[in-house]
Amino acid sequence: MGTPELILAHTDERDLAQLDEYRAIGGYRSLARARELEPAALIQAITDATLRGRGGAGFPMGRKASLIDQKNPRKYVVVNADESEPGAFKDREIMGRNPHLLIEGCLITARAIEAHAVFIYIRGEYLTEYEILDRAVEDARAADLFGDVDVVVHRGAGAYICGEESALLESLEGKRGQPRPRPPFPPVTGLYAKPTQINNVQTIATVPKILELGVEEFAKIGVPSSPGTAVFSLSGNVARPGNYELPLGTPLRSLIYDVGGGIPDGRAIKGIIPGGSSVPILTPDQLDTPLDYDSIQAAGSFFGSAAVIVVDDRCCMVQLALRAAKFYMHESCGKCTPCREGTRWLVQLLTRIEEGDAVDADLELLESVCSRMLGRSLCALGDFAVYPVSSYLRKFRGEFQQHVDEGACPYGAESSIAGIEAPIDAHMHHPTVEVPG
Ligand code: SF4
Repeated sequence: MGTPELILAHTDERDLAQLDEYRAIGGYRSLARARELEPAALIQAITDATLRGRGGAGFPMGRKASLIDQKNPRKYVVVNADESEPGAFKDREIMGRNPHLLIEGCLITARAIEAHAVFIYIRGEYLTEYEILDRAVEDARAADLFGDVDVVVHRGAGAYICGEESALLESLEGKRGQPRPRPPFPPVTGLYAKPTQINNVQTIATVPKILELGVEEFAKIGVPSSPGTAVFSLSGNVARPGNYELPLGTPLRSLIYDVGGGIPDGRAIKGIIPGGSSVPILTPDQLDTPLDYDSIQAAGSFFGSAAVIVVDDRCCMVQLALRAAKFYMHESCGKCTPCREGTRWLVQLLTRIEEGDAVDADLELLESVCSRMLGRSLCALGDFAVYPVSSYLRKFRGEFQQHVDEGACPYGAESSIAGIEAPIDAHMHHPTVEVPG
């Protein structure tokens, strides 16, 4: 696409997990540069680069860093590597392919906020990536690159909710992984109640590139409101699924057709989920939406984890909604009622619709459950469970109605719902409250 990859370095033939290979392409030079700068100058560079969080909300990293009390002698850097959103697999490749870039970003970030400890919280299922990253950490330590900073790689235990930053911090402290009420936010009261800079893998891995390119050159990539690149995990009904690093602002159409090779067998697109299974779906008339935070939000969805899932015309939207709802039911931590109970209602109602047992009033009830959950939960998972269901229902209402009118799923076993991970049904042992018939 005309812009070199900053993060994935697919074009480099080297094994960048090896320290000497990473150094051969200039690795750790940005760290040396950072150590010549004052911490405040580093925060200013990150702020001037408008580096927005690549993990979900798009909150500016420099703004987070500026909220940290620099006078507090104990501060932490935490990397959220608990990538669990269905459809997202970019952090996995970054850590497996270019682990030293992440480590270098951690050390520069620690310098910026004057922290002496970095924790990388990696998804438990990413065993291969953990081993690569852990070895890279040991190699960097042995090469005396850490200075007065220590880096710890900590494996999660397989809970989606631990990707939520405050639940991640609880888990890291050895407690049950449940979200904290906020405020206070992590830059004020984070890990062990100390100021904490917590960011996603790609956000931290971008920091050395800002120093390497300089803020001005970095800002030429992407769009003014969101400079830089993002790694998009492209999946679903697309010819060439995979991770693709592109400038922010690249049109959705270009990702799917030019890069991803379009839809297999010349099928028509039915919908596009632009940011992982938790965000509202876009429709084919929105294919020209630029892939950046503000443009996607203006189109009615979210950038999320940059996991773009393509849905073709063979897909039953009720089955797709049910699969997403089952996932969020399974992953709800149970701390608050609208999410704990609401996700079960969603699953039961969608099951009834899919199996052809629903009546017209069930569609209104489904809408009502969505509106009673939205914005009423402690963390974002309560909303994440609603967005797919409510947006599929709103945009494909006729298809939901068809299930009710025909008393059966018009797609049946022919539906293709590739791209959204199947929940592990064997783990669906939560007690459920029956939805009134
Ligand atoms: Fe737990 Fe769901 Fe409440 Fe989040 S919204 S705290 S996941 S019950």
